[in-house]
Amino acid sequence: MIKENLAKVKSTIPPNVQLIAVSKTKPNEYIEEAYNCGQRVFGENKAQELASKAEVLPKDIQWHFIGHLQTNKVKYIAPHATLIHSIDSLKLLTEINKQALKNNRVINCLLQFHIATEQSKFGLSLEEANELLNAEGYTKLNNINIIGVMGMASFVNDEAQVRKEFSTLKSIFTELKTSFFNKNESFTEISMGMSGDYPIAIEEGATMVRVGSSIFGSRN
Ligand SMILES: *Cc1c(COP(=O)(O)O)cnc(C)c1O
Repeated sequence: MIKENLAKVKSTIPPNVQLIAVSKTKPNEYIEEAYNCGQRVFGENKAQELASKAEVLPKDIQWHFIGHLQTNKVKYIAPHATLIHSIDSLKLLTEINKQALKNNRVINCLLQFHIATEQSKFGLSLEEANELLNAEGYTKLNNINIIGVMGMASFVNDEAQVRKEFSTLKSIFTELKTSFFNKNESFTEISMGMSGDYPIAIEEGATMVRVGSSIFGSRN
């Protein structure tokens, strides 16, 4: 089924948009099945789970960390993560920089924005992002590279609402590009859209979509 699901999802995604197959909670066999169909980018939201999967699965997999990240868990993913989608504080970014340095790496990161109406979701406001990017501490971080933004829309059936939130994230991207990343050619990514809403996200400018249950089946 994974093969068919993956082919179906891929057929709806334009070539300039990257598909992150969200494999959280799913066993290694499922990941291998997608891998054998050519999928190389996978998303996980628990640090230890990402590390234990990365240690045994093929080395050419690109692991994206997409969940809320506590500073004391950064050490588990620092050797493995290609991209961390969930930066919501300078403290977290500073710890990632420290662990990246220990591993002799530069880790790509996205700033996560709170675009949904639900209070429970994580992420920065534009004001908080401005503060982070203007902070003296930020300029000293040489082992992280911010390459874009990430957000999760409200979990509602109101398509107009979801579209508006994705459009807000796109505007935030454009604003940050102009004010902070004009000379940074790698600041290009907008990570938005999941199984239920990724086609809308693509229409609103997503460069990466994070799709789990449509590929691997629902989680309990
Ligand atoms: C679980 C998760 C996804 C994928 O969700 P699906 O609805 O299964 O596609 C995408 N993004 C984040 C941040 C997630 O935690």
